[in-house]
Amino acid sequence: MPKARETVLEINLDALAHNYNYIRSKLDEDVKFMAVVKAFGYGSDVAGIAHKLVELGADYFAVAYTSEGIALREAGIEAPILVLHPQSFNFEAIIENCLEPSLYSKFVLEEFVKTAEEKNQKEYPVHIKFNTGLNRLGFSEKETDVVKDLLTATTAVKAKSFFSHLAASEDWKEREFTLMQIHTFRKIAVKLYDDLGYSPMLHICNTSGIINYPKAHFDMVRSGIGLYGFGNDEPNDEKLRPIGTLKTIVSQIHVLEKGQSLGYNRAFIAEKRTKTATLPIGHADGINRQYGNGRAGVTINGSYAPILGNVCMDMVMVDITGIDCKEGDEVIVFGETQHATAFAEKGNTISYELITGISQRVKRVLITD
Ligand SMILES: *Cc1c(COP(=O)(O)O)cnc(C)c1O
Repeated sequence: MPKARETVLEINLDALAHNYNYIRSKLDEDVKFMAVVKAFGYGSDVAGIAHKLVELGADYFAVAYTSEGIALREAGIEAPILVLHPQSFNFEAIIENCLEPSLYSKFVLEEFVKTAEEKNQKEYPVHIKFNTGLNRLGFSEKETDVVKDLLTATTAVKAKSFFSHLAASEDWKEREFTLMQIHTFRKIAVKLYDDLGYSPMLHICNTSGIINYPKAHFDMVRSGIGLYGFGNDEPNDEKLRPIGTLKTIVSQIHVLEKGQSLGYNRAFIAEKRTKTATLPIGHADGINRQYGNGRAGVTINGSYAPILGNVCMDMVMVDITGIDCKEGDEVIVFGETQHATAFAEKGNTISYELITGISQRVKRVLITD
């Protein structure tokens, strides 16, 4: 790989293939794989990874919003796409782009049926979302009759799946709660299968659900974070490969004498002679201010260089005292060797937030091993 010459997020498609195959290996052969690629593929490169995932055998895609589904269609993805959180305002666009909505309440189900009827649809595929304890989106267990009545009253739509979402699949302390969610989901599905006389696919597992609840894979699983290389705990992190490496370069080197300050609000004051490097990456790129003032750091020529002072919009300054480096040298912010989970923890957050927060200003580059 050529060295970085500006700030880039490298996306390794071989690492993606490794992660896909690892997660796939946890599934029975007839279980479908839904690749969750919302938020630009968790901040990677959604078109690049979606095409690779098709090649790898992903059966389905999921995005959060309609616009994300349209972007996938425009990138040439023909596989079915579930829109997890559509707004009724977009229902015509959903149908025009052959996207499949998650319908989670009486209101949105009615609105979608109305739109599908107006557009003369027959058995348009929809996915019914049930709330089993996350209390975010979904019909409650008590509302199965509402679902049955609305679905049987029209031929314009047909349920292709029933699904729910786990609140704490990565958390062993919440095992009882998770098992309760799975149990409730199964109960709802059995009841509706009887009432409707047909059997939509069932799915409830996200990445940690796949790993921790092998008996709950049902007909399909929805994996996001695992594809990007994060297992939500150390043993699984070790099995996966982070697909993204955030790189930047050294723009300029300064030497501060004892007592001199660095950056905005003079948040860092040198207690001794300190060599610093200025890097072209800041909070507008997704390295937020919480990482400043020594909390997180980067790797330069194999050595750890903590961020000094406040993170600026377009720059950070790091401590390179004792590190052999020069202007133009490559800097690793996070990647396969410097794990994003560890970086995120230093800012009191999780890999999900760090990687999805790398802004669109940062150029994405697809690579292979
Ligand atoms: C984001 C999301 C997923 C993917 O979860 P991961 O933990 O990233 O695997 C699955 N299902 C729903 C409903 C989601 O919103």
